[in-house]
Amino acid sequence: MPNKKKYIVNGDSEIKAQIQFADQKQEFNKRPTKIGRRSLSRSISQSSTDSYSSEERPKQLSVGFSLPHSAQAHAKGTLSAPKEAMKLWLAHPAASYTDSSDDETSPRDKQQKNSKGSSDFCVKNIKQAEFGRREIEIAEQEMPALMALRKRAQGEKPLAGAKIVGCTHITAQTAVLMETLGALGAQCRWAACNIYSTLNEVAAALAESGFPVFAWKGESEDDFWWCIDRCVNVEGWQPNMILDDGGDLTHWIYKKYPNMFKKIKGIVEESVTGVHRLYQLSKAGKLCVPAMNVNDSVTKQKFDNLYCCRESILDGLKRTTDMMFGGKQVVVCGYGEVGKGCCAALKAMGSIVYVTEIDPICALQACMDGFRLVKLNEVIRQVDIVITCTGNKNVVTREHLDRMKNSCIVCNMGHSNTEIDVASLRTPELTWERVRSQVDHVIWPDGKRIVLLAEGRLLNLSCSTVPTFVLSITATTQALALIELYNAPEGRYKQDVYLLPKKMDEYVASLHLPTFDAHLTELTDEQAKYLGLNKNGPFKPNYYRY
Ligand code: NAD
Repeated sequence: MPNKKKYIVNGDSEIKAQIQFADQKQEFNKRPTKIGRRSLSRSISQSSTDSYSSEERPKQLSVGFSLPHSAQAHAKGTLSAPKEAMKLWLAHPAASYTDSSDDETSPRDKQQKNSKGSSDFCVKNIKQAEFGRREIEIAEQEMPALMALRKRAQGEKPLAGAKIVGCTHITAQTAVLMETLGALGAQCRWAACNIYSTLNEVAAALAESGFPVFAWKGESEDDFWWCIDRCVNVEGWQPNMILDDGGDLTHWIYKKYPNMFKKIKGIVEESVTGVHRLYQLSKAGKLCVPAMNVNDSVTKQKFDNLYCCRESILDGLKRTTDMMFGGKQVVVCGYGEVGKGCCAALKAMGSIVYVTEIDPICALQACMDGFRLVKLNEVIRQVDIVITCTGNKNVVTREHLDRMKNSCIVCNMGHSNTEIDVASLRTPELTWERVRSQVDHVIWPDGKRIVLLAEGRLLNLSCSTVPTFVLSITATTQALALIELYNAPEGRYKQDVYLLPKKMDEYVASLHLPTFDAHLTELTDEQAKYLGLNKNGPFKPNYYRY
């Protein structure tokens, strides 16, 4: 079957991309996963329906879409995108301007109905729906690919019949994803994956537009599981797809309703933790449906980790400390994706940046990017800011904290709050002073104080916003993973954890290019032959590291 790709950016005219998934050798040397051949929707042609493993070659798949004119206009900046009003993604006091309500009644004790008379939801206050709608509209401006998929869904419904139960942060960006899934034909029921991160007005807007949402900011542990249960334990409705962030929903169904897996076609999981659990289930032979690991797709790892942190590190530091960066000495521990993003942002602001690394390859990258590679001990007395980005534990110890100079700022950008040994600071001789939300001064007996941000938890997610556009890339990947798993013919995916094929990553990226009015170069026939590539991609082997 001949492979074709058209990617035309032609002034104001329609932007089209038609991609056929070419034969590709799937390789993945990081985890024992298999990578599947993809079908994007029912309209997508594919040549074969048989099953395969990671060693086998996926066959043909084609994708076509038209970007709506409005999306093109946004991409060109001709429609106003009120970016400055973008709201926080995760728990933050300023995240919700309608959260000031004094209403202490638990949403579980309230009788609420939306304007259509439905009471199949549980949110803080359905009357906040209008505010939430504005938040969702703002997020839509920066989520062009989902809007393009939605436009395309006017002609086809690749998720018709899908019953998706979701458990993610309930934010404006998630709302855009949910409404896109709805436009693609799915029925959705949703709970929050975090007890603090729900934007109440967004949850209200979703409930008002008919989505059974069970979530509010400040749920108790009991509420958390109750909300999840309300999503899955419904008379006359059974999920056939799971979209999870952290694995709690998947875990609940395994524990309480294992029979539900008979009807479930697949799980899409975003987080490091959730993916880790899936691999454990798979290893133990207990994974009973196919699962898609979105966390490790290139469009997640190379964008979320790098660009999200590059964009948000300064924001987190600035909001909490009002500091100036120029000339400040900063040490960044770990020069992986997150560390690279932090270093780039700080360097651009004129900070003097030192890097610590354990891996000689990342260390060499840091050197060649112009950063001084040091041991933490060598600079700990002189630096103004310490940032951890390692995913490791006890990188900053009590000994380091003792040696820091007065007013040194200490924070973490890695997943876990154990990178800085915060527990070691809870000793009687040290005084803790909460000076602002998420900002503590820890004071030594001689008067020295250090400035600890977010108690060592993820700085950007605790204290600032993260860019909607980056979330758009991740959300599009999630949507495509759902479409693929839902439409995959019997046997294509086994009870295992799969990665998105590179072709799909390339497709997600291509959907975001029009925002930048980017003009992609097409390979000539001669060049394609010379490189041994299909003109439509994939353009890199799976072992390529970007
Ligand atoms: P990565 O593996 O690419 O980078 C981590 C780096 O730290 C590696 O190069 C490793 O060699 C180095 N390292 C490990 N131990 C070290 C030590 N003791 N001293 C110095 N360096 C050390 O991972 P990543 O993608 O950069 O992610 C790092 C962490 O950030 C993870 O915990 C991840 O979950 C988290 N993360 C945060 C965000 C965010 O928005 N804040 C986004 C994505 C990922």
